Amino acid sequence: MEIIMSEKAAADRAIELENKYGAHNYHPLPVVLERGEGVYVWDVNGKQYFDFLSAYSAVNQGHCHPKIVSALVEQAQKLTLTSRAFYNDCLGEYEKFITDYFGFDKVLPMNTGAEGVETALKLARKWAYEVKGVAGNEAMIIVCKNNFHGRTIAIVSASNDPDARNNFGPFAPGIISVEFNNVAALAEALKNKNVAGFLIEPIQGEAGVVVPDEGYLKKCFDLCKQHNVLFIADEIQSGLGRTGKRLACDHENVHPDILILGKALSGGTYPVSAVLANDDIMLCIKPGQHGSTYGGNPIACKVGIAALSVLRDEQLSENSERLGKILLKELKSIQAEYPELVKLVRGKGLFCAMVITERNGNSAWEVCLELMKNGLLAKPTHGDIIRFAPPLVINEEQLIECVSIIRKTLKGF
Ligand code: PLP
Repeated sequence: MEIIMSEKAAADRAIELENKYGAHNYHPLPVVLERGEGVYVWDVNGKQYFDFLSAYSAVNQGHCHPKIVSALVEQAQKLTLTSRAFYNDCLGEYEKFITDYFGFDKVLPMNTGAEGVETALKLARKWAYEVKGVAGNEAMIIVCKNNFHGRTIAIVSASNDPDARNNFGPFAPGIISVEFNNVAALAEALKNKNVAGFLIEPIQGEAGVVVPDEGYLKKCFDLCKQHNVLFIADEIQSGLGRTGKRLACDHENVHPDILILGKALSGGTYPVSAVLANDDIMLCIKPGQHGSTYGGNPIACKVGIAALSVLRDEQLSENSERLGKILLKELKSIQAEYPELVKLVRGKGLFCAMVITERNGNSAWEVCLELMKNGLLAKPTHGDIIRFAPPLVINEEQLIECVSIIRKTLKGF
């Protein structure tokens, strides 16, 4: 009894400290995690959970993957940071590895996803002025409504989410917003001769795993080509195996002009992001024009190589594709069992979502609290949507166990 009390006190204390000393910019589920391995995490009381958020798809390779952690630890004991004022013996190796992996001439390494997106926007603007010939300060970027690309001022300037924008203005100019999954809307916006790039999440993650119609990405890409506009894919969440392919763009054989990666590029161990492009675009940026102290540091390079190697060697995209089909089928059968509670189910690979109908005070948040009690962690997005995105190392037996937890939980409503 005493032990239980002190464990509960440890959880309460951790939550209390965050509430008291941390900015209130998140609203976490009331669970305090202290350990993770593969698809599992454990709270401070030793209770085990399936992680169905995977740190917003940063932990695609599973928690604390031994090969990625070893790469990190080994490099951390040797050389951690030189800045880019000097060469280091890891960066070139990583640059060759990642450009070969994705088929681009060059990479520009950054740290967080938002920095990757900022980099891509700056690169597209530079290219527009220096290659396409757009007049000074006139370059435009087309984005999609309901996007999520991060939290910087320039990026929230491209958002239509009131929470992301309210009282953060004035915003950056040069943005045209079009409806997602609407080819005609993009075609109309492309009539503007000053467009530098079209920035898109191939599947909108934070919007609630919104999957566009088949053929949409390819049509958008072709339109961009016709108008000499860069197709910029933000695959920070949808990439690296999450949707059942190496990249979500691979489903339609689209090779973006600029590719942005983050999150699982380190398997959740370290902030690593990257922008990839060919020479005609990337070489528009010259020394001193863009960078980051930590971007391309030796630890990030070793971790990046390890994280991408694990995805390839353990065939995690293939696992995501195979198990994703089972997950979607099972979620659809749960929807058929509880149609008054589950409005919609959608997804691709192990990237699925369930839209919950709010009634009698029961919302996606309440469902997530019950899932948590039953040993599965998922987080609502936009109030009524629950994303189901487990680490891609999950096996079929574990997935079936998770489906039964979800089914049992919904039965309780
Ligand atoms: N782009 C997409 C598609 C994302 O999902 C996210 C984060 O969720 C970001 C960008 C921003 O990444 P970060 O939080 O690492 O800045």
